[in-house]
Amino acid sequence: MSDLSTPITYLPGVGPQRAKTLETELGITTFRQLLYYFPYKHIDRSRLYYIHELTADMPFVQIKGEILSYEEEGVGHKQRLIAHFTDGHGLIDLVWFQATTFKWIKKNYPAGKLFIVFGRPAVFNGRINIAHPDIDPADTIQLGSLGLQPYYSTTEKMKRRGVNSRSLQRFIATLFQRIDLSLLPETLPPDIISRLSLVSLSQSLHDLHFPSSADALRRATYRQKFEELFFIQLGILRYTRQRQAEVKGYTFSRVGNLFNTFYAQHLPFSLTEAQKRVIREMRHDMGSGRQMNRLLQGDVGSGKTLVALMTILIALDNGFQACLMAPTEILAEQHFATFSQMLGQMPIRVELLTGAVKGKKKRADILGGVARGDVHILIGTHAVIQENVVFHRLGLAVIDEQHRFGVAQRAQLWKKSDIPPHMLVMTATPIPRTLAMTLYGDLDVSVIDQLPPGRKPIETRHFWQERTQSLYQGIRAEINKGRQVYIVYPLISESEKMDLQDLDNGYEEYCQAFPDLKISKVHGRMKSAEKDAEMERFVRGETQILVATTVIEVGVNVPNASVMVIMNAERFGLAQLHQLRGRVGRGADQSYCILVTKYNLSSETKQRIQIMCDTTDGFEIAEADLRFRGPGDLEGTQQSGMAFDLHVANIARDGQLVQLARDIANEILDNDPAQQLPQYKPMWAHLRELSRDNINWSNIS
Ligand code: ADP
Ligand code: MG
Repeated sequence: MSDLSTPITYLPGVGPQRAKTLETELGITTFRQLLYYFPYKHIDRSRLYYIHELTADMPFVQIKGEILSYEEEGVGHKQRLIAHFTDGHGLIDLVWFQATTFKWIKKNYPAGKLFIVFGRPAVFNGRINIAHPDIDPADTIQLGSLGLQPYYSTTEKMKRRGVNSRSLQRFIATLFQRIDLSLLPETLPPDIISRLSLVSLSQSLHDLHFPSSADALRRATYRQKFEELFFIQLGILRYTRQRQAEVKGYTFSRVGNLFNTFYAQHLPFSLTEAQKRVIREMRHDMGSGRQMNRLLQGDVGSGKTLVALMTILIALDNGFQACLMAPTEILAEQHFATFSQMLGQMPIRVELLTGAVKGKKKRADILGGVARGDVHILIGTHAVIQENVVFHRLGLAVIDEQHRFGVAQRAQLWKKSDIPPHMLVMTATPIPRTLAMTLYGDLDVSVIDQLPPGRKPIETRHFWQERTQSLYQGIRAEINKGRQVYIVYPLISESEKMDLQDLDNGYEEYCQAFPDLKISKVHGRMKSAEKDAEMERFVRGETQILVATTVIEVGVNVPNASVMVIMNAERFGLAQLHQLRGRVGRGADQSYCILVTKYNLSSETKQRIQIMCDTTDGFEIAEADLRFRGPGDLEGTQQSGMAFDLHVANIARDGQLVQLARDIANEILDNDPAQQLPQYKPMWAHLRELSRDNINWSNIS
């Protein structure tokens, strides 16, 4: 048996040229990597279908019959060749779109000859057709011998160098002759294997490539998915437990005067049940003697600020200071205003520290107060974690809108005292549970799943960009009612000239359409002071329309704004649209979100816009987003500092399996906390190997 670390060049049939291609294109250099290069699909070529059995949701099918006649339709890029095909049980159209190939097709697939046609059925104009099918003469194909064929992804470059899916299939078949899979050590413990009726590692590796049946493929896939998700969870949970054992936390045993006084006398409204629940959860954490590490998720407008404020009061009641960090100066100032107002009647000193707080004396005064402990709550931007800020006794750090705060910045807060402060991270970007379990698996998660009463759901409408007049009318009507309006343009990167041009043109257009109104313009390339001044004008109601890029996305609260117009909405992702929409609907009035797009939209974009029009539920939107984009792109994923390699599992689709993997990992950690039990030894060894290869646990917040 060959060692799995053997370089791929030693595999018969590969050779130095192809080995180079495999390395540069797929990163495959060893037998092991080739073994783990799984096909992205299998196609059942053992079975023939009848045309009358076909439906548009079938993946791939084979039918056997003859072409009756050809027909060409359309002109220009709509040109297509249609073959009317029958198997004696029904009729179907085969369609090609590349005009240059039409002649070749007609010559090679003459009418009247028996063929096997292979492809994916689709519905067009109410009829089923197959576009660009594979066609073979019926007498050259032996059906029974084909079975489930693996298909491997390849790149254009590979194909040009003669390495295609078929070649990979051949290489792997050769690999199976060279290695004895049964000698491969099992990675999962025997009790888990038997309890979940999993196939062995070697069996699953074989069957993922060359399954003998659909059932064998299903079982192999299940085992591999479980394995991938399980080791991620095992790693996260082991790390979390270890940290909990080593890191102590301050014990906040008292819910004292400040909290109770505020609750009884100054709370401007009654808390929602969800707010009460999450405050209880945090009280419990902070009283446990362990360091709290909690992620608070709540849709925009769900009232996270108030929850933060009351949690902070618990810290103060126990003789500690607290800080609240926001990603932008505007947000920090807003929080400062809210806190100052709500706590105005109480003996609490709140200070604001941002880059905009100028004057040596003023800063020295704040810093001195923080160091002595007379500043109880420090609110700010990342300025609050800079080196020169020394707290007397920091007990709780709250981070708002977490996705703008990197892991490194969070870690810096930890260093502010011997015992790290309790951490509360708040985010309005809802993360589906299964993803949170993986990305933030070491954080406890609280969810505010309820909006304060009396809110009218925001009405969302879709406009084509040509219909400017009715859009202007709508805007005018709201402004006549005394409301304010946001107009947002996409700015993918701050250096995109074209986008800025759009914004400038848009601003000009609105100035012309509403000559009697005052209009602000804000984008990320403006100087920070200039930008803030312009924002402030809008916040104070001096301007009625704010034309902006997504700089307004996070947190800004202007309750009087009732319309959010999003231009070129097709260019935004779902999560971002939802965030933007959350800027309105903060007062009691009916608010509107207008998604303006061009006329020609891809079907995926249409679905995205439709979802936005159909629901305001952030979690529903997040789930949809995950389905559309996959977890890799999701906001926050990058900053999570967590790299994990999923070959087969998919966090969006395998949610239940994530939960199962987590439960079992927890169970094992309960049973074998010292990592000593003989039946788990190979599993721990495998985890260590994986951590070395691709998961850097120390990076996780
Ligand atoms: P977010 O979760 O988006 O940060 P905020 O904390 O800014 O939401 O709250 C949005 C608005 O709802 C604020 O004006 C706040 O005062 C108000 N609010 C918060 N909690 C309640 C409640 N229980 N009842 C009524 N209004 C509330
Ligand atoms: Mg907020």
